[in-house]
Amino acid sequence: MAKWVYCFGDGKAEGGAEMRNLLGGKGANLAEMSSLGLPVPPGFTITTEVCNWHHANNSAYPPELKDEVEAGLATIEKILGAGFGDANNPLLVSVRSGARASMPGMMDTVLNLGLNDRTVLGLGKSSGDERFAYDSYRRFIQMYSNVVLDVGHHYFEEALELKKEDLGVHMDTDLKADDWRAIVAQYKKIVEKRTGKPFPQEPREQLWGAVGAVFNSWMNQRAITYRRLHAIPESWGTAVNVQAMVFGNMGEDCATGVAFTRDPSTGANLFYGEYLVNAQGEDVVAGIRTPQHLTVQGKLAQKSDAPAMEEVMPEVFGQLDAIRHKLEAHYRDMQDIEFTVQRGKLYMLQTRNGKRTAKAALKIAVDMVRDGLIDKKEAVARIVPASLDQLLHPTLDPKATRKVIAKGLPASPGAASGKIVFTADEAEKQARAGEKVILVRRETSPEDIHGMNAAQGILTSTGGMTSHAAVVARGMGKPCIAGAGDVRIDGAAGTLSVRGTVVKTGEFLTLDGTTGEIMLGVVPTVQPELSGDFAELMAWADEFRTLGIRANAETPTDAGQARKFGAEGIGLCRTEHMFFEGERIVAVREMILADDEKARRIALGKIQPMQRQDFVALFEIMAGLPVTIRLLDPPLHEFLPKTQADMEQVAKDIGVSVTEIEARANKLHEFNPMLGHRGVRLGISYPEIYEMQARAIFEAVAEVQKKHGKTVIPEIMIPLVATRKELDLMKAVIDQVASEVGQLSGEKLEYLVGTMIELPRAALRAGDIAGSAEFFSFGTNDLTQTTFGLSRDDSASFLEKYQQRGIFEHDPFASLDIEGVGELIEIACERGRKARPGLKLGICGEHGGDPASVFFCHKAGLDYVSCSPYRVPIARLAAAQAALGGPLKTE
Ligand code: ADP
Ligand code: MG
Ligand code: MG
Repeated sequence: MAKWVYCFGDGKAEGGAEMRNLLGGKGANLAEMSSLGLPVPPGFTITTEVCNWHHANNSAYPPELKDEVEAGLATIEKILGAGFGDANNPLLVSVRSGARASMPGMMDTVLNLGLNDRTVLGLGKSSGDERFAYDSYRRFIQMYSNVVLDVGHHYFEEALELKKEDLGVHMDTDLKADDWRAIVAQYKKIVEKRTGKPFPQEPREQLWGAVGAVFNSWMNQRAITYRRLHAIPESWGTAVNVQAMVFGNMGEDCATGVAFTRDPSTGANLFYGEYLVNAQGEDVVAGIRTPQHLTVQGKLAQKSDAPAMEEVMPEVFGQLDAIRHKLEAHYRDMQDIEFTVQRGKLYMLQTRNGKRTAKAALKIAVDMVRDGLIDKKEAVARIVPASLDQLLHPTLDPKATRKVIAKGLPASPGAASGKIVFTADEAEKQARAGEKVILVRRETSPEDIHGMNAAQGILTSTGGMTSHAAVVARGMGKPCIAGAGDVRIDGAAGTLSVRGTVVKTGEFLTLDGTTGEIMLGVVPTVQPELSGDFAELMAWADEFRTLGIRANAETPTDAGQARKFGAEGIGLCRTEHMFFEGERIVAVREMILADDEKARRIALGKIQPMQRQDFVALFEIMAGLPVTIRLLDPPLHEFLPKTQADMEQVAKDIGVSVTEIEARANKLHEFNPMLGHRGVRLGISYPEIYEMQARAIFEAVAEVQKKHGKTVIPEIMIPLVATRKELDLMKAVIDQVASEVGQLSGEKLEYLVGTMIELPRAALRAGDIAGSAEFFSFGTNDLTQTTFGLSRDDSASFLEKYQQRGIFEHDPFASLDIEGVGELIEIACERGRKARPGLKLGICGEHGGDPASVFFCHKAGLDYVSCSPYRVPIARLAAAQAALGGPLKTE
């Protein structure tokens, strides 16, 4: 018989952590903790397969499910000696969603399920606290009605406010049992009025209502958006966990809390968490009451006066701390846990691998290797390559002046500047228009995810380090400051104010998520460094990877940065970038506007010494590492003067009239410049250009070799080749120059001549081209463009539609189209290597720094990938993971 329900509790479980696909993360870990002998309230998990069955069968359930759920309830009843719906000793349960990956877009948990007009009396008796019983009942009605029956929270909140006004009290704690009873009666009326039906009294009806709501929430818009953002397949489904309730709200010896076994921001090996006395469920993360710290150390670090759990409940804290160590040793990873204390007894309600910043991830991985919990391979496999991006961005310049207007909790590190906006929709709208924005909210909720995703940083005025804003921001790697209590937010007026300072919508703020400082305006930043744990983990990655990593760089600054980040050479030096600087653009324009070869050679003669100096600088910095230099590639009109003033200047510089310049510019106009007169086609038309560049390269080689006594081997690359003949003609020019410079300088010149593969024809004819080319470098930006026939510069307007409609899974310019472009690359590799064994193969498009593309390059057998200097560490790590068999999914 099909098994749809798995029980846990009382020191055993039918499932375990390895069954997360079936039981969801929450269910699998509740089972695992149970088997470990930790105090977990008993319960059962309805599997993710039921979710899929339900959606595939018109919202029905598998026929066996009802009996299995009944059996599950009976097991809990037996363990606790209570009865579901029993009037004297009622069993109450929570109904919790739980997918394979944790998903904030899902249904909220329903607590205290099983309460009705009869069982509330039993709860009052069994707990000896009638007030608590009615307080729980009203919480249940509100939660259930909101989550399952779709009745807004505000109806209940308004009724409660009115009641308090009537009674002349301010705090919930001032309300007595009778008051809560009256409120319950009112709540039931609200439900009847809003839904047209009385509040369901039958516990089994309540249970199936909640179960159905969990499964339906898998298909709600929030969940769908979250899945899209995180590439979670719909087919995973969610599980439902039904678990006996324990109460953190039965008095002053009760509490509820959340904790991380290490600091999720810094990775420090310190117990890190928050709790609230006499509270239930999400009170801690909802940002309603400001939670207190778990440890004295945490309390002191945040300069809080509220006593720590370590002080208030030392014994329970001791148990929790022991569980912390037990869980880490068992899971061999940092855990994010949820617990409740009922009358001095500790219960564990959840554990999972904790979300952490990239910085924390590195520290935790390195520390765990040192402590022998994991080995280097696992450490390397655990870090998400793309997350390193967080550490490769500039941070605030410590020397810059900071106009700090307020401080909040340092909830997610990093620096962010942007215009302030007050709603998630506005954040998304502005970001689409190219603005950098800071999302400012009292607190965030799952509805705000899209805005948080679009913002540079997030600021909230309430909530703690484990609030929704903090957790989600850390997961996204966005700077976040939470609980900035001094900040007054007036969304309607579009202002944020702090003691007299008013900041309006659209004005700039800077957040330092590492310190919690909120600053006026835009504060300048400094370049990041690779050191400490980061450097150590990178060194381990290098031990495993087989793929070489180079950088795309042309300036000495970029080349220097690339080396600091561990690049092993330059895979793409775009010489045209060197043409724009300062006075040389004048000579370049003179060359372009020249009427004949003679005039062109005169202009080229002016450019050559400057170009030679560029190469000298580059070769010196790269100190013998390979440097691939691409000869001139873009269409010439890109260098032409555009404004009237520029034209006049050029006319003066080269001694012709403005009209003549305009005429030349018109002649250079092309309808489709990306497929026009560019790349090797320029070299064929004007061989003297490539000749000058080759001369500059070889003279620089000779100069550097003489000076440093070390061989420099440039790799000269011809762009946009479609046929072998094009390459042969250009190679002849280069060989000729090399022999001349060699003779003149007396230096022995070694070099390679190769080509970019960026046209489908070149990929297909790779066998032929490799007869002349000594290396291939896949220019995947153009290769993607030419394979799809899709203009990179014009596709933005419709690409999004393509992704929404599922035609493209991702932007093919950001992550390689492995099926199509990838196949061309594989064909070219195979044919090229067959014609020339040992042919050097690399990739130099944007894709070189994209982890998924790096995995592909490893598999395709390339020798190296080349990417922007700032992505070099990402590529190093991705290459190591590729060599280790792929990335590790921790969530
Ligand atoms: P989420 O997926 O949003 O973390 P959970 O299912 O973990 O939602 O529920 C949220 C909170 O509800 C828990 O942290 C816990 O405080 C409370 N809760 C859930 N189940 C129980 C239970 N059986 N007894 C007491 N509190 C519970
Ligand atoms: Mg929740
Ligand atoms: Mg939880």
